[in-house]
Amino acid sequence: MSAGLNIAQLEAVNYVQGPCLVLAGAGSGKTRVITMKIAHLIESGLDPKRIAAITFTNKAAAEMRERAKGLIGRKAKDIVICTFHALGVRLMREDGAVLGLKPQFSILDADDVTGILKDCGGSPDMATARQWQWTISAWKNQGLNASQAMAQAENDHERVIAEIMARYEERLTAYQSVDFDDLIGMPLKLLRDHAEVREKWQNLLGHVLVDEYQDTNATQYEVLKALVGQRGRFTAVGDDDQSIYGWRGATLDNLRKLPVDFPNLKVIKLEQNYRSTSAILRAANNVIQPNPKLFPKTLFSELGEGEPVRVVDADNEEHEAERAVARIQSLRATSKWKDLKDFAILYRANHQARMFEQALRRAQIPYKVSGGQSFFDRAEIKDLCAWFRLWINNDDDPAFLRAITTPKRGIGHTTLGQLGVYASQYKLSLFESLFSASLQNVLPARASGSLQEFGRYVNDLEYRARQTLGAEDARTFLLDFLKEIGYEQHLYDNEDSEKAAATRWTNVLEFCDWMSGRCGGQIDDAAGVSTTREVKNLLEVAQTIALLSTISEREQEQDVVTLSTLHASKGLEWPHVMLVGVNENILPFKMEQEPGSEVSGESLALRLQEERRLMYVGITRAQRTLAVSWTRRRKKGREMVAALPSRFIAEMALDQNTVKEDPREKLKALRAEFAKRAASAAQSPGG
Ligand code: ATP
Ligand code: MG
Repeated sequence: MSAGLNIAQLEAVNYVQGPCLVLAGAGSGKTRVITMKIAHLIESGLDPKRIAAITFTNKAAAEMRERAKGLIGRKAKDIVICTFHALGVRLMREDGAVLGLKPQFSILDADDVTGILKDCGGSPDMATARQWQWTISAWKNQGLNASQAMAQAENDHERVIAEIMARYEERLTAYQSVDFDDLIGMPLKLLRDHAEVREKWQNLLGHVLVDEYQDTNATQYEVLKALVGQRGRFTAVGDDDQSIYGWRGATLDNLRKLPVDFPNLKVIKLEQNYRSTSAILRAANNVIQPNPKLFPKTLFSELGEGEPVRVVDADNEEHEAERAVARIQSLRATSKWKDLKDFAILYRANHQARMFEQALRRAQIPYKVSGGQSFFDRAEIKDLCAWFRLWINNDDDPAFLRAITTPKRGIGHTTLGQLGVYASQYKLSLFESLFSASLQNVLPARASGSLQEFGRYVNDLEYRARQTLGAEDARTFLLDFLKEIGYEQHLYDNEDSEKAAATRWTNVLEFCDWMSGRCGGQIDDAAGVSTTREVKNLLEVAQTIALLSTISEREQEQDVVTLSTLHASKGLEWPHVMLVGVNENILPFKMEQEPGSEVSGESLALRLQEERRLMYVGITRAQRTLAVSWTRRRKKGREMVAALPSRFIAEMALDQNTVKEDPREKLKALRAEFAKRAASAAQSPGG
């Protein structure tokens, strides 16, 4: 059992008689302690069913189960390894009856909740409903129900929301439904108010283990306490410097309370980092250093000094994405790291992924977006891609169905159903069937007329796209096409709010800009290198894009580059990490006090501390190399504005060996080299 554990880790694994807290910095093997401790408990004779290990995400739970399986084999399937929420579901399915809940209750997702709230509050716009949702959720996380929320409401605004909350609670009871927050709040009520349920669970669970303890909220801590009772047989592992969910109610008070609530708490500190090189670790320590310390910590690495952290500057976001892709290509070309899964691009917010997705697609590098939706998975982009796919391949039936119904063009489901039957009978594609003579026999003339009109329109588009060259013409063509099909109107007709429709429409316009930019002529490459590209007409461009959209199917494959938000990257590691968009006002997020806002100086300081922790989490995901990039200009709405590097970059760089600027000249040479290679590969037959 001692294999692969240091003395302090071993101590944490072997201490099973009482409450244990492992408090240590990133990459020090906290999660490994949890996994090994599970194995140890089972080897010492504890029934796997009596162990509960709580992780922060479902993905982390799945990974932990895999590891446990590797250590102890089949027995691993009986261990309860899940998130607090999933544990809550289990408690409520088993014992929720005492709260009047049927075992087959349903769990509402965020959209369901918004819908019900809109209903309860007299159909306001989406933004207002979301704001109610946010407030109600915050109340629930503090353990308040509607009447308690009403009692503590401080103004009319809050009183109105408390009233809506009361109606909302009634609805949920009537629907036998619970929301996400209930999955924590209701089990707590269950354990607190019902001694027999509490005793049952306390006797069942021989040991409870919690990973990422610093990100639990107040209610989750209460659930933990109720589950372990007086004996307190649990192991919590965490790092106060990685608490990044304060905005969702997570509180470091949970760390402060532990030694008070459990006076016999054993605290174990781990000091060796097994993940990162010394240069990376130093950069991380420098960034987190200004934060007040809950517990003093030191962290060292024996993996060697390693490469200095690279600071990369870019002209704008597109350029930044090009540089990130160039870095991946160059590392793969010049080092032993060939697998795409060894690379991650991390950013603050979901919407930043887009540029990197586009650049990766252009370089034909498969990737996955974790912790958010891929730009190419957005409904509006899929709509457009369906049309492109149909121009390129008329026989693409799924694309046909999407295009013919987006926007609706008076061809109903019945007609399409009949067309489908006809096509499969004659083994034709839907498109081929349109012009088949005997279709007239099965469909009314009007229906087959509109179908054929659609077919002719698709062919016409295909023909026109082939004639379209050059960015300006391509843009005009695409805008005309969108107008012809009435796409903008379609968005406004189908979205709940004007704002949502406007966002989608902006995405569509940006996508069109991006596509037209790829159309023909000499393009001054975003990376600052002028490369002569093959002249492509719009149809050919659409073809590459449609081809690339099948890349998303390759996401299932393991060997892909990871794009992730910093929040979703917690607990994970990659040999090569790029932190992008490390600009002031992004990371840290906007810090200036807005005129007339109620944010106090103190809460701004707290916010900055959390931003610092977020940066610390990002840096410490890297094992071998880390690049941090920022842009001189950024897009704000449809405008470009000047931007500054994040203060964290300066703070990381306390010495020359920790951080180096990435020379642009070298990069230019590299890009030129790649362009040359690509050109000669294209010329060599079969290459
Ligand atoms: P984080 O704070 O980011 O969640 P962590 O403290 O949970 O990090 P782990 O993910 O458990 O750290 O471990 C980091 C890396 O170090 C992993 O690759 C793990 O396999 C390795 N590791 C941990 N302990 C040891 C050890 N004693 N010997 C060798 N490698 C180790
Ligand atoms: Mg961990």
